[in-house]
Amino acid sequence: MPILKLIILALISTSCIMNVEAEDSLLNLDQKPKIAIVIDDLGDNLIIAKKIIALQAKLTLGILPQTPQSKEIAELAYKQGHEIILHLPMEAYSRPDLLGPGALYANMSFETFQKVLREDIESIPHLSGFNNHMGSLLTEGEEKMKWVMEEAKNYSLYFLDSRTSKKSIAERIAIQKGVPSIARDIFLDHNVKSNDMMLQLKHLKFIAKKNGKAVVICHPYPETLAFLKAALESLNNEFELVTISEIL
Ligand SMILES: [Zn+2]
Repeated sequence: MPILKLIILALISTSCIMNVEAEDSLLNLDQKPKIAIVIDDLGDNLIIAKKIIALQAKLTLGILPQTPQSKEIAELAYKQGHEIILHLPMEAYSRPDLLGPGALYANMSFETFQKVLREDIESIPHLSGFNNHMGSLLTEGEEKMKWVMEEAKNYSLYFLDSRTSKKSIAERIAIQKGVPSIARDIFLDHNVKSNDMMLQLKHLKFIAKKNGKAVVICHPYPETLAFLKAALESLNNEFELVTISEIL
């Protein structure tokens, strides 16, 4: 190979390496990894909701439709700067008793399904998006997920897949329909023992550092509230706490 060609090649590869390094250092300097904390299952208990709303973090709050305190919690949380989403009950393979009012079922006709879904959406003010409460059965079904995402589009809502089924196709259908979407990475408090939540938190931090962002779903248990309170300072130092809208 002629010497001139070798010199040119050497120059090009050096400048590429320098560019990559420059981009890496820019990323490291400017951006902390982002974490979105979502707290689901709100709507029945105003006392614990007020304690959650008072936490020193930007949160995304999932409110169950047609529950006694849903409107008041949404108003208070929105005023405090949190993001509000509809925590939409969808049929699961078990425990139909835990679905609550406004649930969507696989055997509903299109008309009933759409009516219930619209009532749910309109029952809570300040909605930015929605995620599924339960829903292991419904999120695996293409037809129902298409119906859900059509309405999400009509109301300009984003979708957070709680991923209660490994076979959920909800996010794929959301993307097909042009609904902004993201999936949950970690459930913090399937088990509320402090050691178990600590492990989940570690896992969450690992994913956020690896991908630049992560989504964690929690529940309004007293143990979770105490755990979050204690963890927030280190989370705020190491990460940027954001709403779901900010990491879509
Ligand atoms: Zn739930």
